[in-house]
Amino acid sequence: MSSADADDRRRRRPTGPAPRLTLDTPVTYLKGVGPARSAMLARLGITVAGDLLRHVPHRYEDATTVTRINDASVGADVTVLGQVIAKGVLPTRKGLRVFQAVLQDASGMLELAWPGQPFLDRQIEKGDWLLATGPVRFFHGRRLQPREFVNLGPEEEGTGEGRVLAVYPSTEGLSVRVLRALVLQHLDALLPLVEEPLDAALLAAADVPPLREALRMVHRPQSVAEAHRGRARLAFEELLCVQLLHRRANQVTRTARGGRAFVNRRQLTSQLRASLPYQLTHAQVRAVREIVADMGSARRMHRLLQGDVGAGKTVVAVFAALLAMENDAQVAFMAPTELLAEQHARSIGALLGPLGIVPVLLTGRLGARERREALTRLAQAGPVLAIGTHALLQDGVTFADLGLVIIDEQHRFGVEQRAQLSAKGAHPDVLLMSATPIPRSLALTLYGDLDVSVLDERPPGRQPVTTVVRPEAGRAKVFEFLAAQLDAGRQAYVVYPLIETSEKVDLKAATTMFDALVQGPLAERRVALLHGRLAADERDDIMRRFLAGDIDVLVSTTVIEVGIDVGNASVMVIEHPERFGLSQLHQLRGRVGRGAAQSYCILLGDVGTEAAERLALFASTEDGFAIARADLEMRGMGDLFGAKQHGLPAFRIADPLRDEALNETARVLAEQLLQRDPLLEAPAQRGLRHLLTVGYGRALELFAIG
Ligand code: ADP
Ligand code: MG
Repeated sequence: MSSADADDRRRRRPTGPAPRLTLDTPVTYLKGVGPARSAMLARLGITVAGDLLRHVPHRYEDATTVTRINDASVGADVTVLGQVIAKGVLPTRKGLRVFQAVLQDASGMLELAWPGQPFLDRQIEKGDWLLATGPVRFFHGRRLQPREFVNLGPEEEGTGEGRVLAVYPSTEGLSVRVLRALVLQHLDALLPLVEEPLDAALLAAADVPPLREALRMVHRPQSVAEAHRGRARLAFEELLCVQLLHRRANQVTRTARGGRAFVNRRQLTSQLRASLPYQLTHAQVRAVREIVADMGSARRMHRLLQGDVGAGKTVVAVFAALLAMENDAQVAFMAPTELLAEQHARSIGALLGPLGIVPVLLTGRLGARERREALTRLAQAGPVLAIGTHALLQDGVTFADLGLVIIDEQHRFGVEQRAQLSAKGAHPDVLLMSATPIPRSLALTLYGDLDVSVLDERPPGRQPVTTVVRPEAGRAKVFEFLAAQLDAGRQAYVVYPLIETSEKVDLKAATTMFDALVQGPLAERRVALLHGRLAADERDDIMRRFLAGDIDVLVSTTVIEVGIDVGNASVMVIEHPERFGLSQLHQLRGRVGRGAAQSYCILLGDVGTEAAERLALFASTEDGFAIARADLEMRGMGDLFGAKQHGLPAFRIADPLRDEALNETARVLAEQLLQRDPLLEAPAQRGLRHLLTVGYGRALELFAIG
């Protein structure tokens, strides 16, 4: 620790005798943690000692299989361990910058090279010990290109034979090495404080180790296999909790209170059908039928309408709204942004014009008088369709008789927000909508007590988007093409993979590239830059101008609104496409091809062979479900949903797809438990009840706790 850091600690650390160590002790009190470090730990969600235990490694490096450097032969895939004796960044002829380091062990020396990662120069110092894994190739001698590596720091931690190294999710300023040292330093003091939440019979049935042992296994494993066994225990706990909640919710809805049964009067809905400018697709007809059946039954509807971007979810939702309205009920339709809410109000308003229905728009942008008028209409009895943002959730918003809640882009809202809107009525029916294409089986695991309708068909007449992959060498041509499209009156997007929370990855940041574009190929054009650091209203303003045609090219990070409809945009150029998940690329691509013109999605950049394969698959299909499945297989769940999306149950460790067998075990055991003991009241389940209460707000109600 630096002396400045130590000074800081002396100054700011709470004085008086240190409290007895518990799992709730703030990390600031731990040895080796000062205010600076505790701030960094907080960024990783670690604020108390127990969090440190729950900060689980995301992978392991197996030092039990280290190859002596002299024995690392060309063509082999090896793990080596050595000390950096020289390092530097070299440019190559193609303009790619390569970080290189020479590694030495007792047997000899080996060159390591990381093409395109010059930033490593700031993370690896001369004298550091590295454990690196990858193929050895011939390039002016032997050269290892690490697929993975761990920096062990300047002191060799006795990484001899028999050690498996835990690699932790880290954050800027707090290296994996420091994190590992911190965990290992406190592990033995913390483990005895851990109480077992699960009944021994349950552990035996699931064949997983007790919690204390599992935590030891993940943090200080004897072997990789042991680490996995420890992780499985932690994953099982999460899966079990979620399964219990879903099963219990099912029990409750099956037996308890119904919603209201809407009568299908075929008044407004028939009028809409007659006045629609197009024919519904088969999938839309089926979804409408499923929804009408739900709403007609006395059971409360809780349905997810899932459909790829452009599948036509909105009109299906409008049918649901009309059914409620012809029963004199009120409808609240909530969207995640003002822009989307306005777009819905406009397009739904157009659909309902022939029926003489004008939706009431409620967003934060309304003036005081408009807002008052809107609120008055909602508070009056009689059918109303309110379309809005989070503004609908505010305390001042009261509905006379809210019968149906529709939530667009539902994953953008938290569970609490969805519940808040429903709470404005007396058990209203609920329709959730999402474009995140996830397989049905997974949707059921994630949402459990939801029914699902899928729009797996596109409205006819839409032109497929032409998707191509172009190398860096083709950059000039790509922008010439883009310019030609602009000359033809079209608009375009250029997208950069700048992830807001990312470490300083050496990418062409959108801003730098923006300047380059404005001075280069896009001079004379109206170009705007859109990114996540802008305030929401600035972002909305830019989108509004793009929508109005006052901007030709939108240079953007991934914050472009999903669901926004700019029919005139016909080209999307995506830089560093290899940095995106396929589903994310698919959502981005959905921004073009929404109008009559032929549209193009151009993936620009030099990518490795593995990425090239993924991108080729993406270019070959527009089937969002196929893409999602491929993405899931290749990258796992976390990436599919992106870190920022809400609404998924808290799986920190488990991955219901990859842990399919474990999930099935959890499902069976949850079912058995609840059959015997629906409220988990047996003394043996006290720990489990506690776990549910702490982790999941919904448990309070479902298990009659408190
Ligand atoms: P999403 O499912 O992404 O929300 P929208 O509901 O916004 O899709 O629909 C996308 C576009 O398709 C809209 O312009 C809508 O008017 C149009 N559309 C929807 N259903 C049909 C259909 N059956 N035939 C033709 N066009 C349709
Ligand atoms: Mg939509």
